Amino acid sequence: MIFKFIISTTLFFLINHNVYSQQNQTNFRSPIGIPIILSGNFGELRTNHFHTGLDIKTNGTINYRIYAVEDGFVSRIKISHWGYGKAIYVDHPNGLTSVYAHLDHFPKKIEQFIRKEQYQKKSEEVDFTLVKNTIRVEKGEVIAYSGNTGGSSGPHLHFEIRETKTELPLNPQLYGIDVKDHTPPILRNLRVYSLRKDDLFLMGQEQYTLKKTNQSYILTTNKPLLISGNVGLGLSAIDRYDLAQNRCGIYNIKVWIDGNMYFEQEMKSLDFSTNKQINIHKDYYAYHEQKESVHKLFIHPENKLPIYRRELGSGTIHFNDTLIHDVKIEVSDVSGNTSTLNFNIVSSNNPMDIQYDSLNLREKNEKLMIENDNYFVKVDSNTFYDDFIIDDQFKNKMLSLKNKNLPQKKKFIIAMKFNKHEFDDPSKIIIAHHSKKGKVLNRKGEVSGDWITTNVSHLGDFTLMIDSTAPVIKTKRVNEMMTLNQSLQFLVTDNLSGVEKYKVKIDGKWIYSTYNYKNAVLTIPLDAYANLEAGEKICEIEVEDERKNKQFLTYNFLYK
Ligand SMILES: [Zn+2]
Repeated sequence: MIFKFIISTTLFFLINHNVYSQQNQTNFRSPIGIPIILSGNFGELRTNHFHTGLDIKTNGTINYRIYAVEDGFVSRIKISHWGYGKAIYVDHPNGLTSVYAHLDHFPKKIEQFIRKEQYQKKSEEVDFTLVKNTIRVEKGEVIAYSGNTGGSSGPHLHFEIRETKTELPLNPQLYGIDVKDHTPPILRNLRVYSLRKDDLFLMGQEQYTLKKTNQSYILTTNKPLLISGNVGLGLSAIDRYDLAQNRCGIYNIKVWIDGNMYFEQEMKSLDFSTNKQINIHKDYYAYHEQKESVHKLFIHPENKLPIYRRELGSGTIHFNDTLIHDVKIEVSDVSGNTSTLNFNIVSSNNPMDIQYDSLNLREKNEKLMIENDNYFVKVDSNTFYDDFIIDDQFKNKMLSLKNKNLPQKKKFIIAMKFNKHEFDDPSKIIIAHHSKKGKVLNRKGEVSGDWITTNVSHLGDFTLMIDSTAPVIKTKRVNEMMTLNQSLQFLVTDNLSGVEKYKVKIDGKWIYSTYNYKNAVLTIPLDAYANLEAGEKICEIEVEDERKNKQFLTYNFLYK
């Protein structure tokens, strides 16, 4: 048997846990004035990342007052069209930073600093840090209004706690942010992965349905699982809070074999520098194709995530006997609600000894190039986590790189050849990615000779498309006569490559405007920051798409 015995594991962990909760004695208030209902929690599995905060529901609307959770000072403000949208960071004396994202706007005390920065940079998007105590805030002070900006798909507050020094995101529920939860985690199914012995390369998997009894979950078959060779376990598990049906993530998973602790993971803190490695923690295929949140209960050699108790080993299982072994998996949420799965496992007496040399496609750091008359693909041994064969195909001018469900570590290069007679202006060609849902997404590209080259972060279907059409600007809400605090609104759309730049001038001077990619509305607020004098005004709008096609519109109005 290759079990690793850890003596008095349970005792050690209890002590450890107590010390931890004492460290967390903070006095944070809620960042919002309504009861906290979550649509997402810390550590939840997402596309290419573990969720690093809490998603707090705002009743489907915007403009809820957002409060500083503790005294402190504003340390950073970032205004972006993507990701966190409008976000504010507050540093607290206890060494922690609170982060509030997808905001709509800020109170005047804060907004004036942002506008100053935006006028200086002549850009709506800004990201700046503030010297300590430039903007002091008190616990409970309104520091923003909730919104739906950046990458959010509906109005909510994304709230984070980070360690100021390291910027490591911490689980806010361990720092006094209280969320009602009386529901134990829901266990959906168990997976057993056959692994190649040396590097955990997945050789296949079996799936087992579960049945809930009074005490615990058991396998529907209720027979011992028969394994052979080296295997790893995976568990599909989610959690629900009170007052909401949203599927959230679990907090802790422990595995015992024959009463000995064998594996443990816990969502106490994460690290942005390794967060993308979620793709080798979760079952990538199950997540993207079956909408299942499967946690693999073993650690890939390249997995540097900070969520495991690594002293227990990698979590892979291999028996040298044919005895029946007890497996217990315990899953809990932060509130301590726990679900347990019990089953037996037995190994056939022929340890897998198949030769996998044929799968060792390449040596470390080897470059791999697929090259022909129509396209080339350039990867190296660091592009993906595991060995694989690229399944490439070129049909009807579409380059298809299969193995779509292969997690990727790094971007790689693809290039496609175009026919000079077909395109009079090659600078207008893009490499278009055709998504599974039928969307066409611009993957840009640089032209050299009769080749266009780009970096992509995924396999899939690619074609060449041309964008020589400028964006369209239409008036949406304008008046010939405007007064202070009114706004001019225009609809700005593009056919393919996407709106990349926009610039508004009034009487020849740059003025702040805000473009909303969700509804394509360009808003020009005529507020105090615009500092306009009364009289006839000429408003000039210039818009450019990603392939540098430009559009202009001039609008005259009277400002009173
Ligand atoms: Zn979020």
